[in-house]
Amino acid sequence: MARRKRVLITGAAGFLGSHLCDRFIAEGCYVIGMDNLITGDLKNIEHLMKLENFEFYHHDVSKFVFVPGELDYILHFASPASPIDYLKIPIQTLKVSSLGTHNLLGLARVKKARILVASTSEVYGDPMVHPQREDYWGNVNPVGPRGVYDEAKRFMEAITMAYHTYHGVETRIVRIFNTYGPRMRLNDGRVLPAFIGQALRGEDLTIFGDGSQTRSFCYVDDLVEGIYRLLLSNEVNPVNVGNPAEITISQFAEEIIKLTGTKQKVIYQPLPQDDPKQRQPDITRAKEILGWEPKVSRAEGLKITYDYFKSLTNDDLYKKEHKDFENYKR
Ligand code: UDP
Repeated sequence: MARRKRVLITGAAGFLGSHLCDRFIAEGCYVIGMDNLITGDLKNIEHLMKLENFEFYHHDVSKFVFVPGELDYILHFASPASPIDYLKIPIQTLKVSSLGTHNLLGLARVKKARILVASTSEVYGDPMVHPQREDYWGNVNPVGPRGVYDEAKRFMEAITMAYHTYHGVETRIVRIFNTYGPRMRLNDGRVLPAFIGQALRGEDLTIFGDGSQTRSFCYVDDLVEGIYRLLLSNEVNPVNVGNPAEITISQFAEEIIKLTGTKQKVIYQPLPQDDPKQRQPDITRAKEILGWEPKVSRAEGLKITYDYFKSLTNDDLYKKEHKDFENYKR
């Protein structure tokens, strides 16, 4: 019988990382989860801890990464991932996608493992091309508040491609668009947990700007399927994975109001600096190369996500932020 595939997943205790752990466990792999728990939460992988084909390392991948034994796949998903996090921990945000990616590419090289890195639609910045295709190079402000994330992810793509061309490492790059689902952090400032949290607490929903900016939301199971297919494909160029169903943030607020039945209204707050005006993935390449497209409608996905948030305790709901970032300034 073939040896079980051994997979390292960084950011394993985070939203996407934990769903990926579930998927690779379900595929019968041996999964090594790694996380420094700055923004991740062990609750997301508690159910895996007792399994004999899962182990967890509490480690910061910005420092040298050691994993004993063989590795077939590495999935690099460690990173803060909300604009509020970038403002609070900008240097960690830069380090995990630059130094962290470098360490993991080095690990992939010695282990002869295939590595997939989590890039983002943020590499397109505030895009001048719509919808965004992979051959668009973007419109990014390197010194704005999002620069620490956007530029680190752009560097991540560059160094990943360099390890592929120079060292022959098997690499894959996924550009992830806005994704939602159970295990998102309730208080990370992202629009979906923000709106649902506000509805559950009986607060008004905060729309930033006039609400005409657009986003395209992908349900997490669809995203995981796209990533899984990309990993197993031969494609080394970046591939967009996201749901092209685009809506304005005002329409999105209306959907959340309807879903939750909240009697609250929307209130308007200033638009954060460099907030992209529009975002929608062109997924032609994912369709052609991976035979992938999203299956879960926003109505279905939002219902599952709302049920998850409803199941959280009042403690979770009213805690401003469960993370103390004070120790992570450098
Ligand atoms: N947003 C909002 N109210 C909130 C949080 C976010 O109107 O309480 C807006 C935000 O300005 C942005 C969009 O929703 O235009 C998506 O924000 P998020 O932080 O979720 O993701 P990103 O901007 O990285 O796509």
